[in-house]
Amino acid sequence: MVSLTKRFTKLAIFGGLSFILTASGLWLYWDAIQYMMTSGKLPTLDFQFEEFMSKHDDIVDDMMTKYDKIMKMEVKEPSVGNLVYAPENLADYQRENATLLMLVRNKELITALQAIETVESQFNHKFQYPYVFLNDKEFTDKFKKSITEKVSGQVFFETIDKESWDRPDWIDSAKESERIKVMRKYNVGYADKLSYHNMCRYYSRGFYNHPRLQQFKYYWRFEPGTHYHTSIDYDVFKFMSANDKTYGFVISLYDIERSIETLWPETIKFIEQNPQFVDKNAAWDWLTEKKQNPQKTRIANGYSTCHFWSNFEIGDMDFFRSEAYTKWVDHLDATGGFYYERWGDAPVHSIGVTLFQDRSKVHWFRDIGYYHAPYYQCPNNPQADGKCKVGKFSFPNLSDQNCLINWIEMATDNELNMY
Ligand code: GDP
Ligand code: MN
Repeated sequence: MVSLTKRFTKLAIFGGLSFILTASGLWLYWDAIQYMMTSGKLPTLDFQFEEFMSKHDDIVDDMMTKYDKIMKMEVKEPSVGNLVYAPENLADYQRENATLLMLVRNKELITALQAIETVESQFNHKFQYPYVFLNDKEFTDKFKKSITEKVSGQVFFETIDKESWDRPDWIDSAKESERIKVMRKYNVGYADKLSYHNMCRYYSRGFYNHPRLQQFKYYWRFEPGTHYHTSIDYDVFKFMSANDKTYGFVISLYDIERSIETLWPETIKFIEQNPQFVDKNAAWDWLTEKKQNPQKTRIANGYSTCHFWSNFEIGDMDFFRSEAYTKWVDHLDATGGFYYERWGDAPVHSIGVTLFQDRSKVHWFRDIGYYHAPYYQCPNNPQADGKCKVGKFSFPNLSDQNCLINWIEMATDNELNMY
């Protein structure tokens, strides 16, 4: 009798402990479970998850095989007859109205210098375009001195006025905290970082109107910590101008769908009221594609989330200053989506440049080798520094983030014949 009671007690303790462990385990994973339920990783009523998952890996493999094949083809520079190479004598060189542009914090000095190093050695010492450095705070003397020593062109250090940078007063802070909580649950990166929201908003709708940038037409955005792997011997700004391009990119990715749930619906609302701004050769098919990551398109309410990664971009600021783009981003801004969600400047730029102008204005710089963690563009370019493996994209588990093949399959002949 005694031993039976003992056994019972043991069993009860064991059972209780197991229960506690399982329950706390589930509780710990509750966020992840909820995330899977709502983000389409588990079956939901309107989404054929099982069917999609069985095809997903094949689609990704197929895309990466195509990507690999393209990146392994040798490229040196665009095959157009109008490239302008570095002049013998820079004193007489008629530059395009262009600048290199970096938004940066004082504490990023070391990584900013690293980026300047390859921008200079691969491109700018041959052309000596000016630089503009922007900051929401005053640059320190140390920052200015160290940068000035490293650049070949003229250099401007500028602060951004608070009006354009800071979160507007009318943002409803209760709604904002509520929305941040939800985004955190879905692991949206930087959801609770106000300065990141400000940065994305500024790069989406402010930078091209900065007083210093008013004087320039083209910009090449670059970022601290990035690396350029190939020698660029032609003037990329003159390439843009001579070939009627307004936006150039190197890497194209899918976005975090929970960061832009209402970006597309707000865009549709805007163009319903302003249909005249939509170009007849807009890239609708690319913007709404749902082959590789249909769960993203669904959560982003119709937008594929496919975008040009904006930490490298060469663009024509006159496009961003146009009536169409200006009115559209003002509409977006008025919804508060830069704070109630975490709209990135990359999807905003990408939607803008593919909706309000002919898609042939967008150029994929296939010849430029580039790295910004954790993604590469590593072309088979005889002028590469050999520091990345040709065709390398990222860690294998990130292959499904590559959206480039969609763009290539939907690009114009003009673009496809560039290399
Ligand atoms: P990520 O690449 O999306 O992780 O974002 P980054 O941290 O690289 O930020 C994008 C760009 O904006 C970089 O050039 C940063 O230096 C810059 N940046 C981000 N936040 C701030 C900020 O609060 N102030 C300033 N001045 N620059 C910022
Ligand atoms: Mn970055």
